[in-house]
Amino acid sequence: MTDSHAHLDACEEPAATLVERARAAGVTRILTIGTGIESSRAALAIAEVNDGVFAALGIDPHQAGTAEAERTDELRALLAHPKAVAVGETGLDTVRQFATPAEQRRLFDAHLALADELGLPLVIHNREADEETAAALEPFDGTVVLHCFSSPEFVALAVERRYYVSFAGNATYPSAAALRDAAAGVPKDRILVETDSPYLSPQPLRGTRNEPANVVHTLRALAEARGVAFDELAAATHANAAAAFGLA
Ligand SMILES: [Zn+2]
Repeated sequence: MTDSHAHLDACEEPAATLVERARAAGVTRILTIGTGIESSRAALAIAEVNDGVFAALGIDPHQAGTAEAERTDELRALLAHPKAVAVGETGLDTVRQFATPAEQRRLFDAHLALADELGLPLVIHNREADEETAAALEPFDGTVVLHCFSSPEFVALAVERRYYVSFAGNATYPSAAALRDAAAGVPKDRILVETDSPYLSPQPLRGTRNEPANVVHTLRALAEARGVAFDELAAATHANAAAAFGLA
């Protein structure tokens, strides 16, 4: 299995411990996501020494109004690393507005340009900004991964545009039936699963610190919603992650 989105540098326990526990649970591949320059360096350092761990590097939208947003040249340099396989997470967040919409959009566009220039996939953070996100992505013809997908009303456009749609622990919540219905409509070759560790623990572990091994709970909930066997969805999401991020 693959955990398509974790923040191993933000977890309390050492990455090696989490990677080992994930492997024991059958999760042999993890995408660890940098959220700023130092976090991206940390993500790369973790990917360097752990087999099966790859990094996505970005400056998250919460920092769009800070000096961090001016460091995209450093980001470009870090993205030359062989274990850097994607740009992001990047995008728009209207819930936690630490930066103005204009600042967020400017930083998002800088990531879009980097992904275009380097031919890398983009990992997108979208919190209640469906229309603006769709508009910003419209001219981009590379690979798009919608991380922590949470907008059932956005799924039709995502499917139409052939985006990869990644579901996290919030898709397991009892209140998330509409999200699971949306997940059931994502084509088998475009669905991904993730933990967003250390955040967003799935049922039945809500409220605890999340880790990549827990992706099995999200897989189980989605397999049930899609009416397929766990192993079938596990294999599909694992293969899709390889295709999305260009991994062997
Ligand atoms: Zn994240």
